[in-house]
Amino acid sequence: MAKHYDFLVIGGGSGGIAAAKRAASYGAHTVVIESGRIGGTCVNVGCVPKKVMWNTSTIAEALDDARDYGFDVTVQGFNWPTIKKARDAYVQRLNDIYHRGLDEATVDEITGVATFSDSHTVSVNGTELSASHILIATGSTPNVPNVPGAELGITSDGFFELEVQPRRVVIAGAGYIAVEFAGLLNALGSHVTMLLRKPTFLREFDTTLRETLMEQMIESGVNILTHVRLERLQKAADDSISVVMGNHASIDSVDSFIWAIGRSPNSAKLNLNRAGVSVKAGGDVIVDDCQNTNVEGIYALGDAAGKWMLTPVAIAAGRKLADRLFDNQADAKLYYENIPTVIFSHPPLGTIGMTEDEAYNEYGKDEVKIYQVRFTNMFHAVTKRKPTTVFKLVTVGKNEKVVGCHIIGAQADEMIQGVAIAIKMGATKSDFDRTVAIHPTSAEELVLMR
Ligand code: FAD
Ligand code: NDP
Repeated sequence: MAKHYDFLVIGGGSGGIAAAKRAASYGAHTVVIESGRIGGTCVNVGCVPKKVMWNTSTIAEALDDARDYGFDVTVQGFNWPTIKKARDAYVQRLNDIYHRGLDEATVDEITGVATFSDSHTVSVNGTELSASHILIATGSTPNVPNVPGAELGITSDGFFELEVQPRRVVIAGAGYIAVEFAGLLNALGSHVTMLLRKPTFLREFDTTLRETLMEQMIESGVNILTHVRLERLQKAADDSISVVMGNHASIDSVDSFIWAIGRSPNSAKLNLNRAGVSVKAGGDVIVDDCQNTNVEGIYALGDAAGKWMLTPVAIAAGRKLADRLFDNQADAKLYYENIPTVIFSHPPLGTIGMTEDEAYNEYGKDEVKIYQVRFTNMFHAVTKRKPTTVFKLVTVGKNEKVVGCHIIGAQADEMIQGVAIAIKMGATKSDFDRTVAIHPTSAEELVLMR
């Protein structure tokens, strides 16, 4: 007979672990099945190693600025293998912490690939396990398009395996990863070309943010090609890659080509048909706003469900689900409105709520008032580098409720979290105005806009 659990979680990543630990804290007999490294994308090939590299590239910029502050800095070089080794060791430490955390939470852990046998039973390593509640938290995998030579490129997973710094890099894509990798590699001294198939990147972000970032990236040396029709990648005699484009000259001698064109849910290999679970055309598991699939007792969240592919979203959805299933909190669910997000670009940007265009479409021009300020952060008063900082508040109605905030500039990544609380609470522009500024900071502009 199959071993029975109260809660069976497929996927030991951000969402799966959070849900499992919360469920176990309520006494649910819980198991997590993970086919790869514990911690999932974020810990192993996502947020964590990315942030280490972003920190590294931020230091590169600071070393440049240091000279303008009077320091006699001679940079002898940058040793990629040093930070790669330290980063890998950090990730390994986190893996160990996650294993220990599950153990301490009395969650069983199984290494293996889980597939559905039926709507209450999952098979792993040849063993059948049944459960009253089953969570699909299997995350996503980077997309690679069907163009000749595509296999010569790497994805973000391959980026984190690079043992030496790529010198001539081409990145295809226009989203979070393309922008983040282009920025950090450029700051570390690689020659970076971005290939966009449209006129701009980050098309779903506020226009001011993406236009400002594009200007800054071009100014800092990133080569951005737009309207690109990529035909093929091919290997040259010296083992480098040539990128052949239909409407631009080809780019030769590329030592790393990175696909950053989106991710698809890991749902195809789960045998969901045996459980009767419905998916969308691209494979996203279909869920309602409480993470229920169409099959009673089966749930999905995080990247596998394809809505807001962010770690804190997967974690919050997982915890709420466990609260609902195992702590009688009947209404517990994650509200997907006003989710703050940051792009660790150079400079970083933070955003929450409606863009200016979304607000105009939703409420009409007369109802919307925009407050915006553009300036150079005081840190750069004495440096040659003068990145632009922009703050934008999108307000609606007579009482000027703040429905969106968009910041680009140093520390935008840290500032937006506080603003998110205010917006989540329904703050109006006058609430911002009533708040005393903290001087001299960049953030003070948030409460000084007129
Ligand atoms: P995951 O964390 O991916 O976990 C899913 C797990 O399921 C994986 O470990 C996988 O091995 C396992 N699995 C899959 N199929 C099976 C199976 N059949 N059986 C058993 N196990 C299985 N988000 C942020 O919020 N901030 C960031 O700065 C950020 N940076 C990122 C940078 C990069 C380069 C990438 C790729 C992503 C980044 N993200 C970031 C997104 C974030 O990593 C994901 O949204 C998050 O990890 C999703 O969590 P999840 O639980 O849905 O899936
Ligand atoms: P994104 O969805 O962010 O962006 C991918 C973009 O690439 C598309 O929007 C599209 O833009 C473009 N694209 C799609 N197909 C092609 C193609 N065939 N050729 C060229 N361009 C193409 O995906 P990412 O892979 O960057 O990241 C995946 C997700 O991971 C993100 O959406 C985000 O949720 C998460 N993430 C979060 C981070 C953070 O929080 N800081 C960091 C990294 C990832 P267009 O239509 O304009 O061409």
